[in-house]
Amino acid sequence: MALKFEHTFSQLPRQALCPGSARMEHGLPSERSSYSDEGTRLHQAMHDGPGSPIDRALTEEQAWLVNRCRELPKTYPYDVMENWCSASGLCEGRPDFVSYGPEGAEVWDWKFGNSGIDPGTVWQIKGQLLAVAEWLLTSSVIVTAYAPRTNESLVVKAENEEQLAEIWDEVAAVVNASETPDALLAPSQEACKYCKALSFCEGAAKEVSTYTSLPEPSELSVAQLSRALDVRSLFTKWSEAVYKEAKAFRGSIPGWTRGTREGDRYIADVVMALSRVSNLVDTKDVLQLMTLPYGKFSEFVIGRLREQGMTEKLAAEQFATLMQGIVERGAPITTFRKEKESVRRISSHSKKSLDATTDGASSASSN
Ligand code: SF4
Repeated sequence: MALKFEHTFSQLPRQALCPGSARMEHGLPSERSSYSDEGTRLHQAMHDGPGSPIDRALTEEQAWLVNRCRELPKTYPYDVMENWCSASGLCEGRPDFVSYGPEGAEVWDWKFGNSGIDPGTVWQIKGQLLAVAEWLLTSSVIVTAYAPRTNESLVVKAENEEQLAEIWDEVAAVVNASETPDALLAPSQEACKYCKALSFCEGAAKEVSTYTSLPEPSELSVAQLSRALDVRSLFTKWSEAVYKEAKAFRGSIPGWTRGTREGDRYIADVVMALSRVSNLVDTKDVLQLMTLPYGKFSEFVIGRLREQGMTEKLAAEQFATLMQGIVERGAPITTFRKEKESVRRISSHSKKSLDATTDGASSASSN
């Protein structure tokens, strides 16, 4: 089969839910986020091994996650990591880890996210199974997706040619469905949440628009409430994508005024900040504080100062002194203000003068 669209292991779960996503995402670059950056970092630490520079720079929690994966027992004697492999044009990608021997192969897929393992992951690991079977010329492959945060795992395996052929047919059905020119767009929370096409996808927009004519949340029927919960995250993601588009758009947007506000404050030197508040927090707090944004960090420390008997004002001043020289602001943030308000103000306060002007203009033109 000609590989018209991309069918990487990681895209198969979305393509199984929304066949049209292969067409919609084709050629779009990957988007980075703090979550994907952390995932890349942890995968790299797994690849580079214990004691490597990236491994030594991991936080305590990250090191724990990585070590949990490293401690998993391997079935076969030979190890390979990060070799690109393909199931004859069906799907392709880079498994995280493969061990193999004369009897077969074992594949591991690390899931470092907070949410554990999505059910759709089954398609991703089936794709890996087929590609590794073809790469190592074996029909005995077991693939495990493992999430160290939640200690969850999901396994698929083939022990002979027959089972391998069954999995091939299942994955081929997903790939074939997404190769047809009118492949269905099937928006859903699961399918759309990380889709690169979300900001311009007509399927997702239609799904959202069916809800814009719905009653207020308090007036939804139980059935509507249930359906709305199904797509709640889709709304959020779609609305975030709309906001991103609006920020990037350089022209004027009718009815809206663009402005900017100061960027959010952040602690530029977390290690220094923690050392300055060390007499107020214990080791357990330190781990939590490392991940908190500035606002929550300040609330936490001010709370501790208040426990020592300081007034709110004094505690806030003391916190500001402690953070002197290490707090900075991020880039200015674009804001949008609806123009309707000022139009209403004009119409209520200046209606008379506008009417007078219009009357004057019309009488002038009729003269
Ligand atoms: S945004 Fe949703 S409906 Fe549109 S292509 Fe992506 S997964 Fe499919």
